[in-house]
Amino acid sequence: RFEEVPLAPPDSIFKLTAAYKADTHPDKINLGVGAYRDDNGKPWVLPVVKKATDILLNDATLDHEYLNITGLPEYTAAAARLIFGPDSPVITEGRVASVQTISGTGANHLGALFLSKFYGWNDKRVYLSDPTWVNHHAIFPQVGVPVSTYPYYDPQTIGLAFPAFLDALKNAAPRSVFLLHACAHNPTGVDPTREQWGAIADVMLEKGHFAFFDSAYQGFASGDLENDAWAVREFVRRNVPLLVCQSFAKNAGLYGERVGALHVVGASKEAAARITSQLSVLARAEISNPPAHGARLVSLILNDPALFAEWKRDIKTMAGRIIDMRKELHRLLTEELKTPGNWDHIVNQIGMFSFTGINPTQSQALVEKAHVYLTANGRISMAGLNSHNVRYFATQLDKAVRG
Ligand code: PMP
Repeated sequence: RFEEVPLAPPDSIFKLTAAYKADTHPDKINLGVGAYRDDNGKPWVLPVVKKATDILLNDATLDHEYLNITGLPEYTAAAARLIFGPDSPVITEGRVASVQTISGTGANHLGALFLSKFYGWNDKRVYLSDPTWVNHHAIFPQVGVPVSTYPYYDPQTIGLAFPAFLDALKNAAPRSVFLLHACAHNPTGVDPTREQWGAIADVMLEKGHFAFFDSAYQGFASGDLENDAWAVREFVRRNVPLLVCQSFAKNAGLYGERVGALHVVGASKEAAARITSQLSVLARAEISNPPAHGARLVSLILNDPALFAEWKRDIKTMAGRIIDMRKELHRLLTEELKTPGNWDHIVNQIGMFSFTGINPTQSQALVEKAHVYLTANGRISMAGLNSHNVRYFATQLDKAVRG
């Protein structure tokens, strides 16, 4: 049985991690995985999450009953306020349909499935940035939505391919769906400026396009939750039709707990209720109802002013360490090692990832000769760097660049 099933290739990131684990070199560094590490290279349980966990453990009223199909209401409501802002008209007018999902991946999936069934397509496809998080390329076709790409990254400038991006928006069929990273673009670390976001929103409004926002790094990018929600809020303010996929994997360090939400903005409160009813039908067939523990943790943190303030400090700790590593790597390359080329993109890029601009041969040399594990496209996870290994990395990068 199933003799005809072909062997699928392993996931490239998980394969990289396996190779890193098998390496016995004392200086090995894993810059592949997109998860925060502390200055000792260890996973970090946020102190606020520890506190919230203790509160849950001591709460005798909790049980293991099912949540609603749409999740924990006090969690989804607080999550919507976090991304849109508590005073946003879409919140005060009750126009957001919010459903708890299996982290950001589940939100992308449910959003894609909902659009596949209910969006008024002229041309059924989603436009993804080139490049994007690789899983976007798998999620949409799985629910019958073909993918196209729009220019995003310009290797010449190691920055945004802004004019080509705008042209793609202008040339797409009216009412097309564009996936946008709300902040801290994965894998490039290149975000549009506020002015560029404004121009993108103008064209999207003109063409009647739909914004499919993926928000996996709110707070993690700049250290400020409001700042990282700016693009989404600006699009709401301008009335661009949109949905938001939200993840608490990175900003609360709850990777394995799978805490996420999908927020679809409707034209009215009644429309939002109808959207919620259909999202419930879709979620019921797939997960019946979402996991409770992580949502309870996040709900506590978002709804308790003292815990919320503490969470903001924890976020600043993570974002701050990453920004410090960017500065130190930049300093080592430009001032100490005088590595050929311009390295300003290291400090200009945003969030967990950085596109170094090195080519696949140089990336391969780092993996094979220097025991530094990174993806072939030259992307590094800044979270994998720390005060103990940044000098080793800079030296090896310098060697790879000099060839
Ligand atoms: N979107 C983007 C852009 C991401 O980088 C990630 C995490 N790698 C996700 C969504 C989803 O992650 P999760 O399912 O763990 O929330």
